[in-house]
Amino acid sequence: MLKQDLCNLTLKELKSYISEVGEKPFRAKQIYRQIWTNQVSDFEEMTDISLNLRTKLNELATIGTLNLIDLKIGDNGLTRKAIWKTEDDKVIESVLMIYPDRATVCVSSQAGCPMACVFCATGKMGLLKNLSAGEIAEQVLWARREVQKINKEPLEENSHYVNKDNLPKNLSNVVFMGMGEPFNNYKNWWKSVELLHDKDGFNMGGRSFTVSTVGLVPGIDKLAREDIPVNLAISLHTPFDGNRSALMPVNKKYPIATLIKASKHYAKNTGRRVSFEYCLIKGQNDSEDDATALAYLLSNPEKFPCHVNLIPWNPVKDTGLKTITKIAREKFKKILKKHGIPCTVRIERGQDIDAACGQLAGDYSSPHNS
Ligand code: SAH
Repeated sequence: MLKQDLCNLTLKELKSYISEVGEKPFRAKQIYRQIWTNQVSDFEEMTDISLNLRTKLNELATIGTLNLIDLKIGDNGLTRKAIWKTEDDKVIESVLMIYPDRATVCVSSQAGCPMACVFCATGKMGLLKNLSAGEIAEQVLWARREVQKINKEPLEENSHYVNKDNLPKNLSNVVFMGMGEPFNNYKNWWKSVELLHDKDGFNMGGRSFTVSTVGLVPGIDKLAREDIPVNLAISLHTPFDGNRSALMPVNKKYPIATLIKASKHYAKNTGRRVSFEYCLIKGQNDSEDDATALAYLLSNPEKFPCHVNLIPWNPVKDTGLKTITKIAREKFKKILKKHGIPCTVRIERGQDIDAACGQLAGDYSSPHNS
C-alpha cells in the first residue's frame, strides 16, 4: 500500500486524514506546524507528539516522497542543483541560487515537459508526468532547509560577492521555472502555492513567487482571478508569429496577438506588471529588427506595465543553435531602452553543473547515465 504523503495535504485535508486514522483532529495542526513551520523531515523529530502516534504515522504516511539522488554544487557553492527521483522513478531537478541578501529556488512542476520548445533541453523529453502539489512544495521545503544549512557551514571563497554579512538567512524567492509547464499542471501547481503561502504553515508571501509560462492563455486568465498575488513571467522569445511557431509549437494555438491581449488584461486586472522572458539565440531572434519589433509590440497602441528579461541562451546539445555574444546582447538591450521598454539581463547561474535555464533534462533517467 502506498503511504499517504502529508506534504500533499492542506491543513483541512490533514484534519480529515487524521480523523480517518482514528486520531483527534487537533493533532493535525501540530503535525502541520511541524512539517511546514519547523520543516521537520522525520516523524521522530515531532517531539510534541506521542511516541505511539509517531510510530503509527511512520507506518501509514510520509513527509514528502522525493528521493535525493544527487546534489551538484556549482559557482563556488552558490548554486546547488538537487536531482530527485519520484516514487514512480521519474527524475526531476531543483536549483537553489544564493545571491547577496537573497536566495532563490527554481522548482519543477512536471517531470519532462510536453511543450516541445526547440531550444530547451526539457522540451526534448516530452511529458513524463505531472508532479503532485506535495512533490512541487517539497522542493521548496528542501531549499529552505538548505539555506539554513549553508548558514552553518564555512563559506567558500566568494567573499567578493556573497560574504558572511550579506549571506541570506532564509529562502526569499521561489520561481516555477524548472522542468515543465506550470499552467499545464495548473491545479497541482496552484495547490503547491497555497500550501507554501499559508500563514499558519510555511508562510511565504505571494510576491515571493514567480511563475513562468510558455504562454498558455487560459492559465494567464485564471491566474488573474486568483487571490495570491504571484508574479507572472511569459516566455515570448520573438515578436514574430512565424518565428515563434517554429521555436515554440504552442504559438500555433495561442499566437502573439492573443498572448499580448491576455497579458494586458492580466496587468489591468491585477495591477501587476508582466515580465516577458526573451532568450537570445544567435541568428534566430537577436537582430535589430527583432528588437525594434519587440519594442513596438509592447508599446503600441499604448504602453502597459511590463518588463523584458533578456536571457542569454544556454547551450543545449543537438539543437544546432548558438548563443550570442555579450556585445550583441547589449546592443539588443540598448534598442529596447531607446524605445522606453524596461529591460534587464538575467544573471547566469549554474552552467558548470547544467543547472541553468533550459538545461534541466533529468539526464539520470537515460540508461547510459544511470
Ligand atoms: N514552461 C515554462 C518554464 C520553463 S523554463 C516556460 O516556458 O516559461 C524557464 C525559462 O527558460 C523559459 O523562459 C524558457 O523559455 C527558458 N529557456 C528554455 N531553454 C533555455 C535555454 N537553453 N537557455 C536559456 N533559457 C531557456
